[in-house]
Amino acid sequence: MWRTKAPLGAASWFRCGGTAQRLFLPPDDAALEAFLTQNAAPVTILGAMANTIIRDGGVPGVTIRLGPGFADVTHIDTCQIRAGAGALNGTIAAAAAKAGIGGLAFLSGIPGTIGGALAMNAGAYGGEMADVVQAVYALDTQGRAVTLTPADMRFAYRASAPPPGLIFTGALLRGQARPPAAIWAEMESIKRKRLETQPIRERTGGSTFANPSPEDCAQAGFPEGTKAWQVVARVGGRGLAIGGAKMSEQHCNFMVNTGTATATDLEALGEEIRRRALDAFGLTLRWEIARVGVAKGPALRSS
Ligand SMILES: Cc1cc2nc3c(=O)[nH]c(=O)nc-3n(C[C@H](O)[C@H](O)[C@H](O)COP(=O)(O)OP(=O)(O)OC[C@H]3O[C@@H](n4cnc5c(N)ncnc54)[C@H](O)[C@@H]3O)c2cc1C
Repeated sequence: MWRTKAPLGAASWFRCGGTAQRLFLPPDDAALEAFLTQNAAPVTILGAMANTIIRDGGVPGVTIRLGPGFADVTHIDTCQIRAGAGALNGTIAAAAAKAGIGGLAFLSGIPGTIGGALAMNAGAYGGEMADVVQAVYALDTQGRAVTLTPADMRFAYRASAPPPGLIFTGALLRGQARPPAAIWAEMESIKRKRLETQPIRERTGGSTFANPSPEDCAQAGFPEGTKAWQVVARVGGRGLAIGGAKMSEQHCNFMVNTGTATATDLEALGEEIRRRALDAFGLTLRWEIARVGVAKGPALRSS
């Protein structure tokens, strides 16, 4: 349940970065609640780390990752499914397809857990968490159970802003009845599109930067709807490398660890692109990838 100096970066999708000073893997709600009731140390909550850079200096305090007791997926009725926050997005999408619940297929190609998907308002191919969340179950910093409505989550594009310090433990998701065969076909099509356009077999963290807002596009003189990858391409980012970190040639908003990257390389590469976008267009690219822990080496500009 407890580990000290536990490798964390090595278990992230980027496969690099530091350790957790103390790692807590609660087996269930009761263990998490008991810990939070007594804890005074800073807490970092992580899922599968598919959207996170673990800085090389490691994560101080207590890092929590939810154990198998948080991975249950229960089919409630023809439209609703309840999932523990540690359940994988792909597992939930498959369970929904089997139960004939449409509207959750978008989760099928998004690596990581539903806890991370809630925090990031993850989405793809026309769907996002904000469309399907009915309720979110969480524990607050004192271990008290809280139920949040979609409004409480304050979902925005690839972001949410619930009251601070909450650890999501599960969610109730709602779709609509649809023939399973149609849902499986949709999931197959998503899989094909991803394989064609994204370096999903590499060590990556998904989209590095969020797409610029309409206001940011207007200010930078870009047409509305300009994508982050187009900005990255315009500033010479495609294939740009620092150390072992590289912006993918296949999809230049995806950063990859080519094998020898440190977390410092990854973050420095992202900051270099941000600097170029700011210098060239007055545009501040927003990191979509979360970065946690302490930087090692030269100080990095924060977002
Ligand atoms: C190849 C690839 C493709 C991707 N494609 C997409 C895509 O199409 N669309 C998309 O939106 N994302 C995409 N991503 C990013 C990522 O898959 C999603 O953001 C995913 O939902 C992250 O889940 P995670 O469990 O890995 O979260 P983590 O990376 O571990 O954490 C992300 C954030 O969520 C918070 N968090 C995690 N669990 C909890 C919890 N239980 N309670 C409170 N906060 C929590 C963390 O503190 C952190 O801030 C992609 C990533 C990869 C590697």
